Amino acid sequence: ASVASIKEHDDQIKSVLEVDEEGALAHARKLDEQLVKGEELGLLYGLPAGLKDNMVTKGIRTTCASKFLSNYDPVYDGTVSQKVKEAGSVIVAKLNMDEFAMGGSNENSGFFPTKNPWNTDYVPGGSSGGSAAAMAARHFYYTLGSDTGGSIRQPAAFCGVVGLKPTYGRVSRFGLVAFASSLDQIGPITKNVEDAAYVLQAIAGHDAYDSTSANVEVPDFLSSLTGDVKGLRIGVPKELIGEGIDSEVRDAVLAALKQLESLGATWSEVSMPHTEYAVPAYYLLASSEASSNLARFDGVRYGVRADNADNLIELYKESRSQGFGPEVKRRIMLGTYALSSGYYDAYYKKAQQVRTLIIQDFNNIFADFDVILHPTTPTTAFKIGEKVDDPVKMYLEDICTVPVNLAGLPAISVPCGFAKSGLPIGLQIVGKAFDESTVLRVAHAYE
Ligand code: GLN
Repeated sequence: ASVASIKEHDDQIKSVLEVDEEGALAHARKLDEQLVKGEELGLLYGLPAGLKDNMVTKGIRTTCASKFLSNYDPVYDGTVSQKVKEAGSVIVAKLNMDEFAMGGSNENSGFFPTKNPWNTDYVPGGSSGGSAAAMAARHFYYTLGSDTGGSIRQPAAFCGVVGLKPTYGRVSRFGLVAFASSLDQIGPITKNVEDAAYVLQAIAGHDAYDSTSANVEVPDFLSSLTGDVKGLRIGVPKELIGEGIDSEVRDAVLAALKQLESLGATWSEVSMPHTEYAVPAYYLLASSEASSNLARFDGVRYGVRADNADNLIELYKESRSQGFGPEVKRRIMLGTYALSSGYYDAYYKKAQQVRTLIIQDFNNIFADFDVILHPTTPTTAFKIGEKVDDPVKMYLEDICTVPVNLAGLPAISVPCGFAKSGLPIGLQIVGKAFDESTVLRVAHAYE
């Protein structure tokens, strides 16, 4: 059914890069045998899934939507790919994205842009735009995305589905092609909060193959879905609900707060004074880390090798010039500049200091509140082509999502109605580190 849905409908939205029909059917048959033999069945038994194409999958091409990796066939499964398979899920397809997860509209895919299923003139968001659009199109039971600065939550909001970024360290990054290692985190995109809890349960946990994976207990996320939010204290940062936020988005979020109030929660306005510095700090740090991480793509070790080079340096230059798209090159140049010895203190170090101030902003609020709530995005989805010529405009769209990554916190985006245009609006709930349970409980009670 999943393959049929892709074949019949995906032409309209272009969310899929590669379908593994044969592999998926073979795995499904094995699962059938398990059932017949009466073996214990996994938590995600029989559920067809689509994975963002920056998650390494054995035997299924993994391209990061980059021409550079257009021929890369991994010889191993990343931890998350392995975990979902072990839980009985069938990986059916790999999904489109902004190249190397850099972007917020899917227009940076090295192959073709994905379109928003609610209106195909609009972007699905990014960088996990393929994962969100495919979920909205119901090609799969769930999809996986990755979130470095909003790439799960923003496309989930634009496509009217649920997207959860776990706490940094909750889910292994082993086999996730690195963009910015101190920020990247894999998480589920689903049609509702309960499904997100199931998928998180299956993929969370310590992993010795990822040195930043946290060795903390994984709670039973499903048992947190009680529907009870009585006495819950919600902080709403005035910087993320006032100026710069579209009025339809603000009204939808205020209506959601009313609903939570009627369920027994209370809310008050709070302040995150360093919010205006979050986007510049994020783009300096993420680009710095990316410039280092992407040094491995040299035309020798992975992917496509330029065939017009006479010596090693030329081979590097040509392979990188031909393999990377314009946005990836822009980030590598930005990051290399920020890390260079003459500018390190002025940019990279300063951005790290701002990161600490943002963490403190969150800590101050969490001393008195259980969760923070605000829009996922300042506006609903924008038109394809509308922002491609202005990278700064595109970057500023990330104001509601990047602070959470800088602080490593868990956050979910849940649909909270529609704008007059018919496009979905997303509401974001941010929790304390490793408190996905409360985030899920509040989202589920609201939904
Ligand atoms: N839009 C942000 C960026 O372009 C976020 C990307 C992400 O989370 N992978 O960097």
